[in-house]
Amino acid sequence: MALIVQKYGGTSVGSLDRIRNVANRIKRLRDEGNQVVAVVSAMGGVTDKLIAMANDLNDEPAERELDVLLSTGEQQSIALVSMALHELGIEAVSVTGRQAGIKTTGSHTRGKIDAIDPSLMRQYIDDDKVVICAGFQGLREDGMIHTLGRGGSDLSAIAVAASLNADVCQILTDVDGVYTCDPRVVKDARKMPEVSYDEMLEMASSGTKVMQSRSVEFAKKYGVIFEVRSSLNDNPGTIVTEEHDNM
Ligand code: ADP
Ligand code: ASP
Ligand code: MG
Repeated sequence: MALIVQKYGGTSVGSLDRIRNVANRIKRLRDEGNQVVAVVSAMGGVTDKLIAMANDLNDEPAERELDVLLSTGEQQSIALVSMALHELGIEAVSVTGRQAGIKTTGSHTRGKIDAIDPSLMRQYIDDDKVVICAGFQGLREDGMIHTLGRGGSDLSAIAVAASLNADVCQILTDVDGVYTCDPRVVKDARKMPEVSYDEMLEMASSGTKVMQSRSVEFAKKYGVIFEVRSSLNDNPGTIVTEEHDNM
């Protein structure tokens, strides 16, 4: 039995059908005897829409309130994914960043993960429940709701995988791996079976970004090996690790 941490990005939970697809994928892993913690993003477009509303009301919305507002996107998805799992007969529980024990530090809207106390998640896992964890959010040391910067669910997933010492960490997205460049822009981009943390960071600094850079730095620091793969098919993805030998 493996403990699998997965992250589903905005497109992967972008509609109710996509949420059903996520629930089916998680059920499949459960049927194979695995324990699953899924970190989920807000439904695609929701975070942008919330930011647009804030900017419509105020030229300079208070960052504290932006954190309160933006964290609601992920809170919607964790409840919806859990409900879709219940419909399939799977026992699932949602946890917000605070409930997941994600402790953050830094300025509002640009939080960094300081530590995770995964005891509640661990308790649910021990009770054989699937845990659906809100990405992109945590609780700051002063008790404030805190978000982790755009794309921050990637960081949540890597940090949760590290804190639970997961056997497998998968970043599920709308492409089936890391390509030599953005496959939506460059038609003959090539999928790489393996890539190093440093190469991922170099790609991000040159503008092609498939994951939030801070999440890759975190993975490098804590030695979290992960796979980037598609939430829409079963193609093997790209393993991201310290060393590799295929480029
Ligand atoms: P998610 O919503 O799952 O977090 P993102 O939109 O943040 O997904 O990231 C996935 C997108 O990253 C892909 O749709 C793709 O267009 C883009 N991308 C940019 N560079 C690359 C690359 N080198 N390899 C794969 N995807 C890339
Ligand atoms: N919902 C947040 C964003 O759109 C976080 C994430 O999706 O990773 O940036
Ligand atoms: Mg992303």
